[in-house]
Amino acid sequence: MNDKGLLMIISGFSGTGKGTVVNRLLEKYGDFYALSISATTRNPREGEVHGREYFFKTTAEFEAMIADGELIEYARYVDNYYGTPKTYVEERLEEGCNVILEIEIQGALKVKKIFPEAVLIFLFPPSVEELETRLKTRGTETLDIIHERMARACKEIDSAYDYDYVVINDTVENCTDTIHGIINTEKLKVSRQKDFIKKLQDDLKGHYC
Ligand code: 5GP
Repeated sequence: MNDKGLLMIISGFSGTGKGTVVNRLLEKYGDFYALSISATTRNPREGEVHGREYFFKTTAEFEAMIADGELIEYARYVDNYYGTPKTYVEERLEEGCNVILEIEIQGALKVKKIFPEAVLIFLFPPSVEELETRLKTRGTETLDIIHERMARACKEIDSAYDYDYVVINDTVENCTDTIHGIINTEKLKVSRQKDFIKKLQDDLKGHYC
């Protein structure tokens, strides 16, 4: 079998439940997945811990990371920088872990250019009404912010066509299992199994051809 990990990206509108689904994947399938921790210049929210949710950086620190080539990609989103540190991702992939990037669309499309074999998954809510309800029941956003998020979704949906899969987050359990199914199937693709096929081919040739 191919023992290098697969790079996967999960994006989706604000309120789709990306974080919950990613946490469930990690909880349910353990070391099969590794979550990349991004760097950001935004301030930590209540309960967020440096090195767990994000590496919180000043703008100068973040720009130094860009200059030193430490990021695979970065994007500006709502007046802040967000970026994916390179070393962690490369090391986990080398170890055979399937690395999850939970990042927004501009960054996802940049990663796809650098790693064309990456699998891009766009999480959808079951309906527009459900997305509105989820944003409202979070209870942390004002009506203006909810409206702003819905308007952003309206623009972001155009990019779904550039992704490989659309998965509906109806329930966390279904969505998690669907994503796990996609990743397992992707790993069986001939294009990802070339080394394994070659090895068997050589063994067969050595004995029987
Ligand atoms: P939040 O501030 O709500 O944690 O994240 C805002 C957006 O930034 C989300 O869509 C999240 O997926 C995205 N994001 C988080 N980390 C990265 C990153 O490293 N690169 C990019 N391009 N987007 C990111």
